Amino acid sequence: MGLIVHKYGGTSVADIEKIRNVATKVIKAKKDGNDVIVVLSAMAGETDKLIQLAFQASDDPVGREYDSLISTGEQVTVSLLSMILNKMGYRTKSFLGYQIRILTDKNYKNARILDIETKAIENELQKGSIIVVAGFQGVDEDNNITTLGRGGSDTSAVALAAALKAHACYIYTDVNGVYTTDPGICEKARRLSKISYDEMLEMARAGAKVLHPRSVELAKKYGVPVYVKSTFIDDEGTLVVKEDKDMEKEVVSGVSYDRDQAKITVSHVPDKPGIAASLFTPLAQKNIVVDMIIQNASSEGYTDLTFTVSKKEIKEAQQIVEETAQYIGAAKVEVDDTVAKISIIGVGMISHSGVAAKMFAALSNEGINIMMISTSEIKISCVIKAKYTELAVMVLHETFGLDQKA
Ligand code: ADP
Ligand code: ASP
Ligand code: MG
Repeated sequence: MGLIVHKYGGTSVADIEKIRNVATKVIKAKKDGNDVIVVLSAMAGETDKLIQLAFQASDDPVGREYDSLISTGEQVTVSLLSMILNKMGYRTKSFLGYQIRILTDKNYKNARILDIETKAIENELQKGSIIVVAGFQGVDEDNNITTLGRGGSDTSAVALAAALKAHACYIYTDVNGVYTTDPGICEKARRLSKISYDEMLEMARAGAKVLHPRSVELAKKYGVPVYVKSTFIDDEGTLVVKEDKDMEKEVVSGVSYDRDQAKITVSHVPDKPGIAASLFTPLAQKNIVVDMIIQNASSEGYTDLTFTVSKKEIKEAQQIVEETAQYIGAAKVEVDDTVAKISIIGVGMISHSGVAAKMFAALSNEGINIMMISTSEIKISCVIKAKYTELAVMVLHETFGLDQKA
């Protein structure tokens, strides 16, 4: 008992019947003696529709207006849930990001939360209200509406849990927990009953959609226990929490994939100090995140640079890189958006050798060519052709002993 946050994703609020189901779950938590803050996403598919509309209006929509538009899906669901709760006899109030003041930076489409004013919510909680908050959105210091990046409602929920010192944050979704890999593409995926913040963070950053990476960062920073559970079946779910002694230290505990990848190669770049800085600084200035980078000598005095960015930002990145390439005297810029990143994650990697070699051998046995590699203490990622994504996931899942026992 105490303050808890519930977050429901798009499929959980896809129509009025489903929102009624959410209301029932929220009321149960309230009746159990909790104060409840509910964070909602837009109805399934709505944010995609709004994005399509924006691109029908302009091939290069202004960031401020884009965020203002794509944040509206959440306004619909929070008002509906609030009406339903009210009709069922409960005191409730819905809030949009700016009404609370979920303050963010000005990075439209991918803003970061800087601060949350808690007063309005605390006042309502004191009156016994169920609080319903629009996920995915905030406001900058000049009152412009911002959004937190696709899947960002998870981050709204954990940030609110941290700011209001909730006991726990429950992420209700269309799967009954965090699995060893996406159960949507690998039927042998296994549910994990517990996972550490660090492993979950790497899985999320490597593309596991089930939690927004920033939500896991915040949960780790503020020590918020996060439960990932199914909205539709009453099941134990997965607890995301600080690593503890009885967590299995598997060599590999999960496989993630990310199809939102594009590769840029700048070839025959004069090899001298400052070249990498001149290529990557203009991208950073536009908030374009560069993921993997490799550099290799092409011929005497020249080098080739290859790196990956999000597919969503490839047009803008290509334009910037082409301008820079001309300026630094590079020969050519090539773009490939038919690639994907496949990663294996596990804290046990720290103390085991040969994990990378085993991964490369497994991929090569299937004839899958590795274009780029990057490693961290607990993750190894490879860029491959996107058409091999499912195959690579299944092969790695089996190779590292993650398959569900028959
Ligand atoms: P919501 O709309 O509720 O936020 P998402 O679609 O964002 O739901 O995230 C849930 C989806 O994440 C699942 O349907 C599943 O296909 C996908 N997913 C990817 N990797 C994993 C994983 N390792 N464990 C569980 N689900 C995963
Ligand atoms: N509605 C937003 C999206 O589709 C945010 C979310 O669902 O978390 O990305
Ligand atoms: Mg999501």
